[in-house]
Amino acid sequence: MPGAVYLVGAGPGAPDLLTLRAARLLERADIVFHDALVPDEVLFICRNSIRIKVGKRSGRLSTAQNFINKQLADAARKYEIVVRLKGGDPMLFGRAHEEIAYLKEKRVRVEIVPGVTAALAAAAELAVSLTRRGLSRSVVFLTPRSGAGERPNEWVKAALAADTVAIYMGAGEAAQISRALIDAGKSHATPVVVVENASLPDARRFFGTLGTLETVAAAGSGGPALILLGEVYRGSAIIAAWRGKQSSSSPTERATRSGRARSSSS
Ligand code: SAH
Repeated sequence: MPGAVYLVGAGPGAPDLLTLRAARLLERADIVFHDALVPDEVLFICRNSIRIKVGKRSGRLSTAQNFINKQLADAARKYEIVVRLKGGDPMLFGRAHEEIAYLKEKRVRVEIVPGVTAALAAAAELAVSLTRRGLSRSVVFLTPRSGAGERPNEWVKAALAADTVAIYMGAGEAAQISRALIDAGKSHATPVVVVENASLPDARRFFGTLGTLETVAAAGSGGPALILLGEVYRGSAIIAAWRGKQSSSSPTERATRSGRARSSSS
């Protein structure tokens, strides 16, 4: 019987932020093709499956997308449950379309299992609503990245159109992002937060303004980081500092972080 390929969201890193559906599929999977960013604690759930790392990390050696597509289709001929595990949600900045289109063309059954995307994990980390009433009625998820031959990326326009902006894959280009947005008319005083390793025990938050974004982003240690900007973050450093004091006694943190200390830059 031909198998199916499940595009599964691994969430932002914390294993207990996987959906129940994702965890059940991982337990039953014959073979799992996973991104490099998926942490060991998540992969532990599929320790009895064949595990193949295929992810691409910017600046590192990557497995070509069409080779991944072919591997998935070949695996579906051999195995019943093939999981393609992607960081966060598979349908956001995860090249899901390429895989779905290829598999459909090869008549392989595809199912998608959503995951918690980085922006939502970062919002939780900060305890600041992305859509705080009175300040924000819109959120945009964007990336300044675009590949060769793709149509122009209108990310600056998108950033100006929304009240709250979540920028994926942007921490390494913080200076250019800051300059482009200020040049386009966004105030240099717009509050920004960079959240690194959201949901993980070593999550860190860095606060500043659009004008200081380059310095703010440089404070990170190279883990996956999201840039958030908008008026909802005005004063958020103060809230975070207050929350930091409370966190050691928070029952949720005790339960989900297994007592591990959390470093905070705030
Ligand atoms: N599909 C993923 C995004 C993939 S793009 C999702 O839905 O989250 C990879 C980018 O996501 C990284 O460059 C970073 O900007 C962001 N990211 C992923 N995990 C993160 C985390 N734990 N904390 C902060 N940002 C994260």
